[in-house]
Amino acid sequence: MSHKSYVEGLVFDIRRYSVHDGPGIRTTVFFKGCPLECAWCHNPEGIRPDMEIINRRHILNGKTYLYKEVVGNLKTSGEIFNIIEKDRIFYEESEGGATFSGGEPLMQPEFLRELIGMCRKAGIHTAVDTSGHASARDFTAVLNSDLLLYDIKSANPVKHKEWTGKGNELILKNLRSVAREGPFLIIRIPLVPGFNSEEAEITAIRDLLVPLKSRIIRIDILPFHNLGVRKYIDTGRKRSMKTDVTPTGDEIDMALQIFTDKGFEAKMGA
Ligand code: SF4
Repeated sequence: MSHKSYVEGLVFDIRRYSVHDGPGIRTTVFFKGCPLECAWCHNPEGIRPDMEIINRRHILNGKTYLYKEVVGNLKTSGEIFNIIEKDRIFYEESEGGATFSGGEPLMQPEFLRELIGMCRKAGIHTAVDTSGHASARDFTAVLNSDLLLYDIKSANPVKHKEWTGKGNELILKNLRSVAREGPFLIIRIPLVPGFNSEEAEITAIRDLLVPLKSRIIRIDILPFHNLGVRKYIDTGRKRSMKTDVTPTGDEIDMALQIFTDKGFEAKMGA
């Protein structure tokens, strides 16, 4: 079935056969543009809400080749849906579907709304990976999704602003409203040394999630890693993360334990 549709959006990647962005085998669509600028961001090429030219390098037989690449593609929702639909058989066999990620999908709410609608109509499961930072009006775009992968970074608004460029007030307000009337949630917590890996920080996040527990399927703890460093050089973006320290096994275990102690399902995610 081929679809024609005319809502256009800017995406910077489409990944088929993904297994880390929700249940089963999925196609993940990465929307370009994010209102936050997290110090640890692994996808800095997804932050600017427009096309950009970045420097890439390719090493072959010991020789380095430099080239330029345009990041960001304008696509209609119909074009994206046609790509998603190709793998329907894998979704059916694995209970997978489509995930809209980024950047921040809610920066393009009408594009997101239409894609979710098209997938629903076709019986394809949808998940949205969101920072939750959006106006109440734009945020309604996620309400028809089957699942939200909702990132919570810190319970402390001052610290949140220091490390991501924005406070957490809007994020927590949207979280509470979606937990009343929206899709089920998987909460994703990046575990970042120097920012939130201490016991008190994770406990504070847990305490604000306890009242919403009946709507939370699972907590995913995502340890910070350095694999995105090269992308900062490629995009010419200043990297504000001052260290490259990754969380220890003990810190990860402690974070998981803080949640399991209160009856949450918690696991380490990728
Ligand atoms: S919310 Fe996600 S995509 Fe946006 S800056 Fe933070 S880590 Fe990067």
